[in-house]
Amino acid sequence: MSAPLTIVTGGSRGIGAAVSRRLVADGHDVVIGYRSDSATARAVANELSADGRTVIAIRADTTDEQAVIDLFGAAAEIGTVTGLVNNAGSARAIGMLANNDIETIRADLDVNLVGVLTCCKYAIAAMAEWGGSIVNISSAAAPLGSPGTYVHYAAAKAAVDTLTVGLSKEVASLNIRVNAVAPGIIETDFHRDRRRPQKMASSIPLGRPGVPDEIAGAVSWLLSADARYATGTVVRVAGGM
Ligand code: NAP
Repeated sequence: MSAPLTIVTGGSRGIGAAVSRRLVADGHDVVIGYRSDSATARAVANELSADGRTVIAIRADTTDEQAVIDLFGAAAEIGTVTGLVNNAGSARAIGMLANNDIETIRADLDVNLVGVLTCCKYAIAAMAEWGGSIVNISSAAAPLGSPGTYVHYAAAKAAVDTLTVGLSKEVASLNIRVNAVAPGIIETDFHRDRRRPQKMASSIPLGRPGVPDEIAGAVSWLLSADARYATGTVVRVAGGM
């Protein structure tokens, strides 16, 4: 039987890189998508290929539909796509809504929501014959709303939770499962203020920010056969937040 083949968008750094590492350890072949940092993406792909699995890095801005089509095309050259981790995300507009410009807010919605929908659309086409599993990376911010930090980002992630539920019902008959993982505050370069995760530690019930590997474990489970009866669920991995 051939290995599972999973696309991880934004797989070059942070949570996406940890997910890619974990999936290779689980026996997946992995296609790492990234937006701009080719050197980092190639370095991760080279490191992971050394484990005997097929791992490639493809530049694919998820806000560009043609780039997403090409990403799935590159994956199809390796085999049948069985998994998608919709991980690419960013928050460029920070602070009070009233102080941010709509152009930047729209760009954030594009990557955090439209990009996820775009990748889901092409994943369904790729999985329609044999089934598969999609994991969307949401955020613990979704039900909290992130006042003063990025309400538009929290709203986009709440939409990701909702599309996870709706899409799971839409494609269940195709044997495609759709779930989400909602991380809390995780130590990555996502935070413009690199000290923010540690500064937030006292507001997290478990008393510390998380690390990317702690999210990768949940993604790994949702993609595995152990989760074959789980669909339409959002797994919160947020230290109690
Ligand atoms: P990160 O360290 O900033 O890494 C972001 C990754 O996404 C990079 O690989 C980046 O590629 C890629 N990316 C960004 N925009 C993209 C686009 N338009 N198209 C394709 N790739 C794109 O972020 P992270 O903390 O790992 O976050 C990963 C996911 O977790 C995001 O969806 C984020 O919203 C979510 N999340 C993070 C936290 C947290 O505290 N860190 C909490 C909750 C949810 P380049 O390097 O090439 O730009």
